Amino acid sequence: MFKKILIANRGEIACRVIKTARKMGIKTVAVYSEADKDALHVEMADEAVFIGPPPSTQSYLLIDRIVQACKDTGAEAVHPGYGFLSERPAFCEALEKEGIVFIGPKVKAIEAMGDKITSKKLAKEAGVSTVPGYTEIIKNPQEAVEIAASIGYPVMIKASAGGGGKGMRIAWNDAECTDGFERATNEARSSFGDDRVFIEKYIVEPRHIEIQVLGDSHGNIVYLGERECSLQRRNQKVIEEAPSPFLDEATRKAMGEQAVMLARAVDYQSAGTVEFIVDAKRNFYFLEMNTRLQVEHPVTEYITGLDLVEQMLRVAAGEPLSFTQDDVKLKGWAIEARVYAEDPFRNFLPSIGRLVKYMPPQENEVVRVDTGVYEGGEVSMYYDPMIAKLITYGATRDRAIAHMRDALNEFFIRGVQHNISFLAALMVHTRFMTGRISTNMIAEEYPHGFSATDVPHDDPALLISVAAFLYRRYMDRAAQISGQLLGHERKVGSHCVVVMGGQQHPVQIDPAEGGYDAVYMGETYQIRSDWQFGYPLFKGTLNGTEICIQVERRGMVYRLFHWGSQADVVVLSPRVAKFQTLMPEKAPPDLSKFLLSPMPGLLTKVAVQAGQEVKAGEELAVIEAMKMENVLRADHDSKVAKVMAGPGDSLAVDQAILEFE
Ligand code: ADP
Repeated sequence: MFKKILIANRGEIACRVIKTARKMGIKTVAVYSEADKDALHVEMADEAVFIGPPPSTQSYLLIDRIVQACKDTGAEAVHPGYGFLSERPAFCEALEKEGIVFIGPKVKAIEAMGDKITSKKLAKEAGVSTVPGYTEIIKNPQEAVEIAASIGYPVMIKASAGGGGKGMRIAWNDAECTDGFERATNEARSSFGDDRVFIEKYIVEPRHIEIQVLGDSHGNIVYLGERECSLQRRNQKVIEEAPSPFLDEATRKAMGEQAVMLARAVDYQSAGTVEFIVDAKRNFYFLEMNTRLQVEHPVTEYITGLDLVEQMLRVAAGEPLSFTQDDVKLKGWAIEARVYAEDPFRNFLPSIGRLVKYMPPQENEVVRVDTGVYEGGEVSMYYDPMIAKLITYGATRDRAIAHMRDALNEFFIRGVQHNISFLAALMVHTRFMTGRISTNMIAEEYPHGFSATDVPHDDPALLISVAAFLYRRYMDRAAQISGQLLGHERKVGSHCVVVMGGQQHPVQIDPAEGGYDAVYMGETYQIRSDWQFGYPLFKGTLNGTEICIQVERRGMVYRLFHWGSQADVVVLSPRVAKFQTLMPEKAPPDLSKFLLSPMPGLLTKVAVQAGQEVKAGEELAVIEAMKMENVLRADHDSKVAKVMAGPGDSLAVDQAILEFE
């Protein structure tokens, strides 16, 4: 086994690899950019080498620097993690030249699978089921339309060099096909510097199910079950689970065996993933093979009991697999939720900044948190905005979901926006709970984005009684302080009014042993908790059942967060509550007359002029953000009064582009 390895990556995956290396007694070397000098992976590793400025093109993607770092530290092998150099043949070759081992598959396998067109052809030859389509490069929109007609709509236009959901467009007719061809080509050119695109059948109501494979250098290859990754937003995975609630034993076996056939065809040695798309009738088709460790590998680790990084290290060191296909037994259920620095309430706008508070849930045998951040650390604009992966396990799917719901309640992050409420909302969504998911589910269920009102709490009395508890504890403390001054004793009344969702809820609240008893609508709620002011988590019991609610004080308002619901509450004395009903309401400003930029980005095109009539659905402007072209369309018929921004302008969120009459 190696004595020392270098991890050519950052963030959670670098930390995750270091953990296993440490467990195996292997010394670790981290590399880091200027932006990461205080990062967790640097602190965790035995040694760390500085490799350059923050942009990854000047640091984490520089092959020479990393090879030099290996030579300087005497690292015998390199684990590439995912992303960055993990699937670059040139990196493997550069390492090989210096006699350093690449902890991953051989160059040939990476090359064969690195291109969607080549890999699809190879899969077909190996007898693997592939999506019906045309595996030649499409030269122009006319050709795209002809081929689409021969395949039959709907079709998907895809960049051959694509990845991360970029350079893909769905078309249902000739017009969309022409438009999709241009956009996919443009995106492919700007993201990958390679504008080759091809066309295949678009599978309706598809599920994304992938098979984990593992091969060694002695010709042994096994499959380690599947992961279902159908919950995606804009083709990017949000929630993954293993096993899939959709597969039966026969399909699982057939997919596993085809994945092994493909791996065998490229002499695959290491951990790899064969992605399939599965239709409503359980027909499955090969999508692509990822020749590296996947972000979502922990769910497979939970249900197989294997450490995939350990297996990769053993294979790279030349050891044969210590088990056969028959030894692989899947047990229980695991779910992963990706916690991103993005604001779900603002169209998932990426967020950056300092993690003023970062309190992940406690890890135990059913809760795992893979992260590369810590409280006080920074989420920078240079890298992937993932804060952590939260993984839970249970004997059944329901148990794993229940643990995930609890763990999300406890995950407390402040300083950057995060998507925890969205993840929690998915966990209570009936389609998710019953396993009726597809890659379109998020788009179908949240067509206008996500808003706090999407998740009404199924037990508002819980939030109302906790709010009364917070109020009463505050009043009791205030009374105690002023009571110390003679003549200022105050008696705290038993009644208060909780204002939530614009409605007044009268509550009676009285002290009891270890907490308070609330009476709301004739029911008694016994709340017991040692919660104090400033605690972000309200932990305790409600009628004997454990609860955990996030509490944030914003002036007069308490913001409560529980199971994906977010409620702003104000608690008033009965007297003040009576006056409140007499207060006039402030009307929000009318923004419907403007086209506002939904995200920060570069305005690349304004398609209309002042005075022009526009029809609903007509293109108004194009914004490029995060290398994606976003077309803004009219949502109703109107007339443009004024154009307020022009091509080349950098737009802020909510900046006005057009004014309508
Ligand atoms: P990337 O390399 O960018 O991740 P993939 O080929 O893996 O691209 O596809 C990403 C996602 O796009 C899939 O998980 C699936 O949701 C969707 N997708 C890809 N091809 C098709 C298709 N032919 N029909 C329907 N959906 C597809």
